[in-house]
Amino acid sequence: MKLETLKDLFVEELRDLYSAENQILKALPKMHKAAHSPELKAAFELHLKQTEGQVARLEQIFTKLGEKPTGKTCKAMEGLVAEGSEMIHEKAEPAVKDAGLIAAAQRVEHYEMAGYGTVRTFAKHLKMTEAEHLLQQTLQEEEATDKKLSTLAESNVNLQAL
Ligand code: FE
Ligand code: FE
Ligand code: FE
Repeated sequence: MKLETLKDLFVEELRDLYSAENQILKALPKMHKAAHSPELKAAFELHLKQTEGQVARLEQIFTKLGEKPTGKTCKAMEGLVAEGSEMIHEKAEPAVKDAGLIAAAQRVEHYEMAGYGTVRTFAKHLKMTEAEHLLQQTLQEEEATDKKLSTLAESNVNLQAL
C-alpha cells in the first residue's frame, strides 16, 4: 500500500508499535523469571501491567481511526527480544545476569521511546489531541521504566563485589 498521507504513515507506525508491544507482553514474564534481584523482578512485573495498558491505548486509537491494529511485524523488536532471550539462557553469576537483563530491557525501552515520540508528534501534527495524549502517557511510562532500570543497574551492589 502506498503511503499517501502523514495519517497513512501514522497508522503504519502504530501497527509497528502494536506488534512490538505484543512481543514484549510475551517476553516480560520470561525476563521476570530469569531476574534474580527482587527489585528487578518487581520492575519487570510492574512494566508487564503497564504494557497491557499500553496495548489497550493503541487499540483505543485504532478504534477511533476505524483501522485494524494487526498486519505488521516489528522486526526490530524480534531482534531485541532474541537478544534478551540469549541473555535469559546465558549461564552467569546472578548479579551479572541481572546486569545483562537490564541492558537488554533498556534497549527495548529506547526503541519504544523513539517510536512513541514519533507517533506522539505525528498525532500532534494531525490534530488528534486524544491520541496525542494517550501516546504521551505511554512515552512517559517507557521513559520512567528506562530511568528505573538505570537506577537498578547502578545499585546492583553484588556486581561491585565481583
Ligand atoms: Fe511499551
Ligand atoms: Fe519496528
Ligand atoms: Fe516498555
